[in-house]
This record gives sequence, C-alpha cells and structure tokens, in this order.
Amino acid sequence: MMDNLLNIFSNYTRSLELLYLLNNIKETVRLDANDLELKKIKEFCNEQELFLEISDFKLIKITDKGKGGYANIVKRVPLSNPQQGLKHIYISKDKNKSKFLKLLENKNDDRAVGEILDYPKCCVDFFVKNNEEQQKLQNDYILPALSNSDGFEFPFYTNYATRYFDVALLSHFPHSFNCDESIEIARKNIECIKVHSKELADKFENMLKGPVLYTENQGIFVFKNYRLKNNILHYNEIKSTIKNDLLELLNKNKKIEIINKNQIKIGNKILNDIGFMVFT
Ligand SMILES: [Zn+2]
Repeated sequence: MMDNLLNIFSNYTRSLELLYLLNNIKETVRLDANDLELKKIKEFCNEQELFLEISDFKLIKITDKGKGGYANIVKRVPLSNPQQGLKHIYISKDKNKSKFLKLLENKNDDRAVGEILDYPKCCVDFFVKNNEEQQKLQNDYILPALSNSDGFEFPFYTNYATRYFDVALLSHFPHSFNCDESIEIARKNIECIKVHSKELADKFENMLKGPVLYTENQGIFVFKNYRLKNNILHYNEIKSTIKNDLLELLNKNKKIEIINKNQIKIGNKILNDIGFMVFT
C-alpha cells in the first residue's frame, strides 16, 4: 500500500494523507500536485472511488531560504498564467466534502477550511492569529508555537520541524508542542502507519525523536546520537536541510550550550532568535 501511494504521490507527506483518508482517519484532504502527477492521481481516485476536486487557480511556490527547497509561501495565480505551477486538489470519500472544501478555500475562509480538515480549534485559532505576521516571514509557525510551549522538551508526536525532511505526523501547524489534541491526532496517525508498515513507523519515530535546531534562514538541524546534560548538548551526527557555515561550525564543535529555547552558544558564538527543541 505505502509503495503504491509513494509511487503516485511522490513523497511521504502527501502519501500519508491518502493513507489516513483510505483508513477513515481523515475524511477530507488537501494536497498540491503538478499536471503530470495529477494524471496519475485522477486514475488512482477513480480506482479507489474517491472524489477529486481541482482548484480553479494555480500555485506558484516561493522557496524558503535554507529549508531544503521547501516552500511555505505560495502565490495564487489564474490558470491562464503561463508560469509552471501546482494545483490544489481536494479529495474525499464524500463528494460534498471535497466540493465544499474547494469552495471554502476559494473564499479564503481559513477557519472553515481548518474545520473541514479536522484541525484542532486551538491550532486553527493560532494559525489565523499569526497568519499576517508569518506571511511576512517564512510562514512556518515554528517559533510562535515554541513561544506558546513551556520549556524545550516535548513529546515527539508534535515535532513539526522534521517536515523539512518529509517526516511529520501532523498536517497542521500545532499551536504549541504540548497541544493535547495534536498529540492525539499524531498518535492515531502513527498507529495507522504501523499497521501498514512497521518499518516506516520506526523510521519516522527515529527521525522525530531528538534535538532540533531551528533557524529562520540558516537551515534546520536535527541531532542524532546525542547526550543532553545540564543544558549542554553533545552529538555525533547532524542531519540538515542545508550545507553552510553554521553546519560546519556545528560539525566542528560537536557541542552546543543551550542558554534558553531561543538562544544557544556554539564555541564562542552566540546565536539569537533560534528555536531549540528536544523531542522525546
Ligand atoms: Zn492546538
């Protein structure tokens, strides 16, 4: 099942949405796809008796800085625009729901879209509240979620920073890394993954667990083989979205001092305005 989905939907993030839909964990999903992918997706939806709606606009992605090619900001353009773009697609087992979702998105009703996608209300409120500010930045809500969260140690279920590595158990931005409703959704999702592929569930859990250094423009770093004691993090391995001076510095020092969740020290260098989180 997972292999088939990956073949059609190209990455884990999108394939898992379909896995949840087919297993009735989700009723409606929204994804994006280019024209080539769309052809395969149409066939798949026919076979599976899923209802598919396609947006009346195209999306041009504006790639984030330092996030492995990930784009959090998208620009909507008319279908007649000659630029290469993606379309939003809305899939459900219920014809009305996929149609309704398309309609709500056309109206830019973020709240109603969040509701039909079953996002927790606390997280939808958070998204709407921070939307304007985040649009000006890179629109990924990690730092506002961290500022809503006590301390820097959280359950791995809400690790939303590894989505830059195509690993996440949530499809919405959690309002806090301690959000109970998000934890519950992620728990159900990983149970579902486990049923279909124990190997993939293990891979996800392994990637989701551990310390993460988030920077707005200089990359995301995930530390493996680590030890954290008295706010000093030692590590042997780093996975990163970018190769840059910061990665080099991290590789050279093999040690970070955590001053607080927004400030760390590497060697003699102090980094401000970062996010440091440990997911266990
Ligand atoms: Zn929440």
